[in-house]
Amino acid sequence: MSKPLILVVEDDIPVTNLITITLKSHGYRYITASTGEIAVMETASKNPDIALLDLGLPDIDGVEVIKKIRTWSNMPIIVISARSEDTDKIEALDAGADDYLTKPFSVEELLARIRVTVRRLALMNSNNVPSAVYENGSLKIDFVSGCAWLKGEELHLTPIEYKLLCLLAKNTGKVLTHKYILQNVWGSSLVNDVGSLRVFMATLRKKLESGADSHQYIQTHIGIGYRMLKID
Ligand code: CA
Repeated sequence: MSKPLILVVEDDIPVTNLITITLKSHGYRYITASTGEIAVMETASKNPDIALLDLGLPDIDGVEVIKKIRTWSNMPIIVISARSEDTDKIEALDAGADDYLTKPFSVEELLARIRVTVRRLALMNSNNVPSAVYENGSLKIDFVSGCAWLKGEELHLTPIEYKLLCLLAKNTGKVLTHKYILQNVWGSSLVNDVGSLRVFMATLRKKLESGADSHQYIQTHIGIGYRMLKID
């Protein structure tokens, strides 16, 4: 992949400058949009690789921008917003955002989120046929045989735990909302049963993350959902 083109959607000029200077100094190409309408137009005409999106825009709301772009594009969207309420994050993630940063944000964290997204894009582009084997740190999953291993030892997972693990693994780096996970693992009938999800997640994590030198694989976003971390 050549240097990714990043669309910066932000109406606050100092914040735009901070982001674009950071991107430039780290070798990313960028274009900017100060309104939602311009953002949608730039996405259609310039086909950027990633968008960084402010929610509070002068014309249309950022969540509406996500919904519009998602009607034709799978471009990763990282929301950068001053709205810190969980409901705002959930609304943006459910509309199709891939990640969420709350203002004020650290430049280092923004760069880290962009790197994860770029890696995921590269992976998507290199194998259009999804790989049958997933490896992350000392975790390995063979989707064909339906088995998972940690440090070479087979994990004994219940069918639900295995489905949860596969869903998180296939979306490594992405925050998945409770609603999204419940819909994809249990179907729509249990969509509000966050309590059950928490219990299954706890047992899965115990199997994945026990032992003195083990990594944290699953990150909790309180009130929002979970994310599988990429272990380097
Ligand atoms: Ca704004």
